[in-house]
Amino acid sequence: MVYLSLVNARSENFEFDLVILGGGASGLLVIDQLLDDPFFSTWNILLIEKEEKVTDDRTWCYWEAGEGRFDQLLTCEWKKALFKNEVEDKYFDLSPYTYKMLRSSAFYKRVYGRIRESSGVQVLYSEVMSVMDTSGGVEVQLSDRVIAAKKCLSSVRDLRFLKNIKKYPLLQQHFVGWFIEVRSPVFDEKCVTLMDFSVDQKGNTRFMYVLPVSKTEALVEYTLFSADLLEESEYEAEIMKYLDKAGITEYRIVEKEKGNIPMTAYPFHHKNSKNLMYIGTAGGWTKASTGYTFYNAMRKAKALKEFLKSSSDMRKFTNRTRFDLYDRIFLNVLFARNGLGQHLFSRMFIEGNPITMLKFLNNNTAIAEEFDIMAAMPTWLFLKNIIKPTS
Ligand SMILES: Cc1cc2nc3c(=O)[nH]c(=O)nc-3n(C[C@H](O)[C@H](O)[C@H](O)COP(=O)(O)OP(=O)(O)OC[C@H]3O[C@@H](n4cnc5c(N)ncnc54)[C@H](O)[C@@H]3O)c2cc1C
Repeated sequence: MVYLSLVNARSENFEFDLVILGGGASGLLVIDQLLDDPFFSTWNILLIEKEEKVTDDRTWCYWEAGEGRFDQLLTCEWKKALFKNEVEDKYFDLSPYTYKMLRSSAFYKRVYGRIRESSGVQVLYSEVMSVMDTSGGVEVQLSDRVIAAKKCLSSVRDLRFLKNIKKYPLLQQHFVGWFIEVRSPVFDEKCVTLMDFSVDQKGNTRFMYVLPVSKTEALVEYTLFSADLLEESEYEAEIMKYLDKAGITEYRIVEKEKGNIPMTAYPFHHKNSKNLMYIGTAGGWTKASTGYTFYNAMRKAKALKEFLKSSSDMRKFTNRTRFDLYDRIFLNVLFARNGLGQHLFSRMFIEGNPITMLKFLNNNTAIAEEFDIMAAMPTWLFLKNIIKPTS
């Protein structure tokens, strides 16, 4: 379905002030911000997306303090959490955070709905073949035409190059999840299981993630932070084993989801040029040490809106912080000693203060809090991995 009508296109050199490639999470988060601000009401913006986005192809979860931008769209939220390993269960109150679940269909409906009502943003359903910064602007190559624009934000990614960059080891957060329904109530719908490391680690960082949306329904996800993906049947066998161990033998699989999210400290902003910026996972908006992206992308989208008002050089939106360095060291450790994940996360969440950890993982802690976290880690291992990964 094509919404594009070029009748409004400007008869200057550029058809558009801004072209956004990819109408998934980050592209839409940026547009949702721009639509709020009268500054952009005169901008001619084009979103190019290869397919219509209407399904629950993603279940985004994130923790946030207080009210959030998408609270009205949430499927579920939790104020209590469980972290678990083979010897201990740690339940904790999430306050001041709430753990939130946003399913993608609700999010797509909201933002594509806003776009339809706007006059400045148009949608073109087409596959992007390539994009080039021509130094005066950008050219986006589609199968049947070239689009010229002043600026481009691209969430279209081809991250195969990351495999060959030894300096920044690549792990993946990879998972298969089942939405299941059971007859009799077994789940505590008030408590989310963030990480259950009681599963066999097999030399990796493997855990179960359980999101109960009612007493009889939950998303049960088998997740790894490791270099190599598994066969789909392996994830599924582990989910079955886990449910069986929990005494859940009769259930209906309502839906399945799977994914793999790159975990890397690669400085993605190096790929930006004057008129072209990568956003979302393609732009390094994924938190390298966890794979969480959505909360970070919300913040980046907001900052990007302000940036676009005052700067014309996309390379200036870098915003690197000390948290990038922490992520890099942590990833080096996890890459070199993948079986240690259970131990490290247990130190953080069981021995340490889980709320400070969540604050840290949202890049919000103060330096004094970070010293406490570091003190709880095996210092020699982290020092050894500060500069480069060990093998
Ligand atoms: C199943 C799943 C669950 C996840 N759950 C969480 C979570 O709970 N919390 C969290 O923080 N993160 C989560 N993530 C990670 C991250 O938030 C998502 O991957 C998020 O969608 C990334 O946003 P993005 O804009 O970079 O990519 P996307 O949302 O994938 O958007 C990219 C868009 O570009 C389009 N596109 C691709 N190629 C082309 C092309 N050539 N031409 C035109 N369009 C193109 C795609 O169709 C897509 O719509 C999850 C990821 C997956 C896969």
